[in-house]
Amino acid sequence: MSVVSGPFDLAIVGAGIVGLAHALAAAKRGKRVVVIDRDAQANGASIRNFGFITVTGQQRGACWERALRSRDVWVEIAEAAGIPILHRGLCVSARRPEAASVLAAFCETEMGAACRLLTRAEAERLVPQLAPEAASAVLWSPHEVRVESRTAIPALARFLEQYHGVTMLRSTLVKDATPPVIETTRGRIEAEAVIVCPGTDFQTLYPERIVAQGVTTCKLQMLRVDPGPAAGRFDAALMSDLGLVRYLGYAELPEAAALKRRLAEEQPAALENGVHLIVVRSADGSLVVGDSHHYGDTIDPFAPDSVDAIILDEFDAVLDLPERRVVERWTGTYASASDKLMFVDRPRDDVRIVVVTSGTGASTSFAIAEEVIGELFGSSRPLA
Ligand SMILES: Cc1cc2nc3c(=O)[nH]c(=O)nc-3n(C[C@H](O)[C@H](O)[C@H](O)COP(=O)(O)OP(=O)(O)OC[C@H]3O[C@@H](n4cnc5c(N)ncnc54)[C@H](O)[C@@H]3O)c2cc1C
Repeated sequence: MSVVSGPFDLAIVGAGIVGLAHALAAAKRGKRVVVIDRDAQANGASIRNFGFITVTGQQRGACWERALRSRDVWVEIAEAAGIPILHRGLCVSARRPEAASVLAAFCETEMGAACRLLTRAEAERLVPQLAPEAASAVLWSPHEVRVESRTAIPALARFLEQYHGVTMLRSTLVKDATPPVIETTRGRIEAEAVIVCPGTDFQTLYPERIVAQGVTTCKLQMLRVDPGPAAGRFDAALMSDLGLVRYLGYAELPEAAALKRRLAEEQPAALENGVHLIVVRSADGSLVVGDSHHYGDTIDPFAPDSVDAIILDEFDAVLDLPERRVVERWTGTYASASDKLMFVDRPRDDVRIVVVTSGTGASTSFAIAEEVIGELFGSSRPLA
């Protein structure tokens, strides 16, 4: 016996952003969709991230283009889905001349066409808390939007249910996904096709196929910071020198080599712990700050204070907020692979496995989903 009435055109395993993005793309085509998740509420990478829909800095080519398209979809659905956009754009501050050279080179690429270097006065207007040594070279990107993931993902799921007629089935593990039969812990579901979006669960469905992609898991430490009573408003996402050697849109530019050498000498602990700085603001004025990157096949549950201290050192180098106070800490994990940012696997004609193997899922999933649904259902463009 099944707990939902079908049959469905499409069953999606996983109600993170990857699964929900596929549900949206399929529902827009009029498909009957069921999304199945083992958790009672969203709890994976998709609610633990910055909610920072990043375009500038994504790897040149497909990833950058997918980020632009996905940003448009976030903006399109935000109002109807009740997802506030908390701020727009990105400031990347360069404290070292080598970092300023990367920013200047980035502006010369096609990805930098809509970006520009700010004057010190402009930078200080946009982020008044910038430390003086962080305000001399600042890149402005207009592309980014920021949502509060821990409320945005549940809001997106509700929007899919209420506005697009998607069936959401929670607290239900999918044990086998071989269309037309989907075996779950709450009975059988019938669907013509399945898309498996399992996040970091590489073992339950099609494990041989997923493991063959060379996947591992990345753990990240995150902080929420109260900026203090006199902090003023903070109106764009902020990144710093360390991000320029991690984000491939900058890191793959030849100019990044000199910055990497200098950072290896001056901030080796940051590089060893995969620390870079992203700061975004929430509706209550608090700042979401991160992060670090540690890799392993089984992720330990520990979040050393020494790693948080490295993140906060970078925060303090860039922002002049002497009364800041950490008010919350958490870790998140995402799938990772050394040779790809994402993959779509096709174990059968009626099954796709979609995994984002990098920290780009919030920024690219809507576009990936449009491509996958277009290919699965036979046309490359989604219906409006
Ligand atoms: C701390 C952190 C910061 C990040 N920062 C950014 C950022 O700034 N920008 C950006 O674009 N991305 C960022 N990311 C990456 C982004 O969050 C991920 O790429 C994205 O959330 C992955 O989405 P997902 O749907 O694959 O995974 P998840 O959100 O983990 O969802 C997978 C779901 O599948 C379910 N599931 C798995 N197997 C089964 C099964 N057999 N049956 C039923 N349910 C199943 C799980 O319960 C889970 O709910 C960050 C990630 C983290 C952790």
